[in-house]
Amino acid sequence: MSTSIQERPIVVVGAGIAGLCAAIEAKHKSGARVLLCDSSPGGRARSKEVSGGTLNLGAHALYDKGELAAFLRRHRIRVTGGRPNQGLFYRDESNVLCPLPTGTVSLLRSRLTLREKKALSSSLLRVQFGELPDVPVSSWLESFPSSRVRALLGALVQLSTYAPPSAGQSARAAGRQLRLGAAGVTYVDGGWQSIVDGLLRAATDCGVEFLPENVRAISSELTIETSHRELQAGAVVLAIAPSTIRRLVPSALELLPADPLRASCLDLVVEKLPHPERRLILDTRSPRYLSIPSRSARQASRGEILSAIHYGTGPREGLEQWIETLQPGALALARASQWLPKITVAHSIRAPAHALRHSRSPMVSTGIFLAGDWLSEAMLADASALSGARAGTLAADFRENERFACDSSGAGAPRSSRMAS
Ligand SMILES: Cc1cc2nc3c(=O)[nH]c(=O)nc-3n(C[C@H](O)[C@H](O)[C@H](O)COP(=O)(O)OP(=O)(O)OC[C@H]3O[C@@H](n4cnc5c(N)ncnc54)[C@H](O)[C@@H]3O)c2cc1C
Repeated sequence: MSTSIQERPIVVVGAGIAGLCAAIEAKHKSGARVLLCDSSPGGRARSKEVSGGTLNLGAHALYDKGELAAFLRRHRIRVTGGRPNQGLFYRDESNVLCPLPTGTVSLLRSRLTLREKKALSSSLLRVQFGELPDVPVSSWLESFPSSRVRALLGALVQLSTYAPPSAGQSARAAGRQLRLGAAGVTYVDGGWQSIVDGLLRAATDCGVEFLPENVRAISSELTIETSHRELQAGAVVLAIAPSTIRRLVPSALELLPADPLRASCLDLVVEKLPHPERRLILDTRSPRYLSIPSRSARQASRGEILSAIHYGTGPREGLEQWIETLQPGALALARASQWLPKITVAHSIRAPAHALRHSRSPMVSTGIFLAGDWLSEAMLADASALSGARAGTLAADFRENERFACDSSGAGAPRSSRMAS
């Protein structure tokens, strides 16, 4: 039986960071019922407890001045943790571990030549106070004659964006993300599950109703079919992977990104580490990174958490060898491990002109809005939070305007054909 549009809820599909932000925002912006559907909430921001340690799905840092942190502050969701400010290193082209030049002192003490130090400091100043050109990162790096400066800048870009310099990402977008990283990042106490739990609590507190069910089909009349029921929605936010959007709404195809950014991650809970002072290490010879988040945040009741990442994908043995050279004996001291061979970090890179194409959360079909890490001018979870909040607002506005249309004409907009099942 069809209901009048005033009685219809806003339905948010997917309860990762994007869906949670969308549901909270939609509830705050309208008096509508808001239903949030997901059989496995938290998405890629979940963490799990193993052997006295908390493991995120790969190393995760919250950008203190980013969109997600701003959303959490706006909704009074308190997240604690610590900044990885000390023990930052990079492995140079001769395999030597050097302090990461993050300030004047570390730059002066680095093994770079005077000319290289000048080039690096002027490019970092440019990142800090200006905009880089909207050209691929690899083209920007080519303007530096020194291969050591290119390698170091490339590793820094990779650290903050997860995209290797060859991925075609815009130097301007990468520069903004580097600036955001320089303003501070936090490793979160209790892992990113604390963020998910805080958002879920805020959602329930403001009246969002959570349905632990996945959505199987959506009709063009906004009828939503879950594993347990059929719902008539007033507006919908899809905060799920592009591949699932494509299945539910085939007409969305041309809007969806095709090339995800992936990583291979090995996380360990270890008894102790031979070099606990080495908190974060970049490799300038290979796209790899290692960090010990438990040195900055409460993520292990005993021992330490070690997170290693191969940007793009790589074999487990490669990461194990890298860990052994930097923390000899750590593998033998591991109480538990998590291997993610090919996890999607983001569904698209920020290629040149990305912001022009994706700064709005699109309405992909009448009343259906999209949110996710591939939308908006921000990156990673900040893009999920920003596009989620925007989609929640748009869904609330749409339902409100449809209500007026319905009040004046006595009927909702004609919608008939089924879109996917
Ligand atoms: C290794 C790694 C490291 C990262 N590091 C950082 C970092 O340091 N900083 C940072 O800001 N970001 C980081 N990120 C990115 C961050 O984790 C993601 O941007 C963010 O978690 C994505 O949230 P989302 O809601 O857009 O998508 P997802 O988390 O993928 O959520 C989608 C949700 O949709 C649900 N779903 C799927 N199909 C259906 C259906 N049919 N019906 C209902 N629900 C459905 C899923 O269960 C899931 O919960 C990292 C990611 C990875 C993988």
